Amino acid sequence: MCGVVGIFGNDDVVRDIYQGLLAIQHRGQDSAGIITYSGRFHTKKGNGLVRDIFTVENVQRLKGNIGIGHTRYPTIGGGRGEDAQPFLVYSPFGIIMAHNGNVINYSELKNTLTDKYHRLVNTDNDVEVILNIFAEELAAQKTKSLKPQHVFKAVDEVFKKVKGGYSVVAYIADQGMVAFRDPFGIKPLVYGKRDDGLIPSYAIASESVSLNIMNFSLIKDIEAGQVLFIDKNRKLHTKKLTQCAHSPCLFEWVYFARPDSFIDNVNVYDCRVNLGRFLADEIKKHNLRIDVVVPVPDSARDAAIEIARELNLKYREALVKNRYIGRTFIMPADQKRKSSVRQKLNPITSELKGKNVLLVDDSIVRGNTSQAIIELVRECGAKKVYFGAYSPPLRHPCVYGIDMQTKTEFVARNANLTQIAKKIGADKVIYQSLESLKKAVSLGNKKLKNFCAACFDGIYPTGDVTPKILKKIEKERKTVQESQLELDL
Ligand code: SF4
Repeated sequence: MCGVVGIFGNDDVVRDIYQGLLAIQHRGQDSAGIITYSGRFHTKKGNGLVRDIFTVENVQRLKGNIGIGHTRYPTIGGGRGEDAQPFLVYSPFGIIMAHNGNVINYSELKNTLTDKYHRLVNTDNDVEVILNIFAEELAAQKTKSLKPQHVFKAVDEVFKKVKGGYSVVAYIADQGMVAFRDPFGIKPLVYGKRDDGLIPSYAIASESVSLNIMNFSLIKDIEAGQVLFIDKNRKLHTKKLTQCAHSPCLFEWVYFARPDSFIDNVNVYDCRVNLGRFLADEIKKHNLRIDVVVPVPDSARDAAIEIARELNLKYREALVKNRYIGRTFIMPADQKRKSSVRQKLNPITSELKGKNVLLVDDSIVRGNTSQAIIELVRECGAKKVYFGAYSPPLRHPCVYGIDMQTKTEFVARNANLTQIAKKIGADKVIYQSLESLKKAVSLGNKKLKNFCAACFDGIYPTGDVTPKILKKIEKERKTVQESQLELDL
């Protein structure tokens, strides 16, 4: 999971991009970068948080009315400084690119680029292969001045060659800005405009909240397989290149996106409230004696409030989060996940002692975090601890950019509800059904009928995820984790 922001504007864009990235910092805390253009490219990248990488001095250096920013969580790529996005190639024209997602056939493409096109792929970051293929396809058209059809043709070739889930923003020097969403639209991407000059400024972002913060009004989501080209005169051209079923990632609404964002026209907050309502219906079936509903902060709050309201129960924020420790789920190494729970959450004992507690969380992945939280609540003297997850059991790895790697790590893999409860130390575990999750999203946009739910049901929308590919990705992810640990030592 990563976040991208691109602006083609009237004035210097770096401050807006900085603000836009801050708004989506939750999408990746490993590294960040901004490249702007003012007749030449200006680059600043680094490891860590946006606020720590960009200083007054280096922001002043990033001149230009065009730029792309990125905040990164590593999937493939070791999280080293040189893996930070955006990436740049100098030919043809000079192109910068950033993405959110993951390329399934990365190694194969890297080999082709090296062997057939004699291009050096310098890092382990999969956006570099997308960028090189795009550059190669643009170069093949042998034109000095790009027209929309040249760009559409190059993206079409990218779609044919690159398998996976990816949303991309690029700028081609003195030609225009390009954005596209993979043929299944797995990863989100929106665009908007701001009337701040004779010609409007345009912005593209992973989440609509970046547009809000940068004072751009949302035009709409880029569709699955659609490409957008803002030419050098800032004229907007769009084309839908593929007709695959639009299958956005369900987990965006569960956990990744900010509640104030709209993804494919569905407000994330509204969706989480729906999820709370549907999970409350499920909880009712179990006839449990619950004294208090407690969310695992922060993502579970919206759903937990609704559960308490539906069940007519007390709602208490009895776990207090230290906001200055990263999100445990997106820290790459499992060792980090285990140790950070206690640092991150502190209980209010009086709200838990002697009570039957219903803990609500967005999901249960490996179970380590849930187990540590349940332990914490029990240590406070809770009588019973029930655990409600407002998404279904996670049982399959995500190959589209989320670090859920090995099948064996899922607590729900080959386990029934009683076994899961035992593993995490809960008196009972209640999950949302996949049907209800899809319904909760579709209520916000009736046109959404297909989703990527692969981590829940093992059905990968791109259809080409073989056991061999899963094994390969698993191996690549392990390398990422190991190199991350090395860096941390
Ligand atoms: S597998 Fe899960 S997390 Fe990955 S894109 Fe699909 S729904 Fe999202």
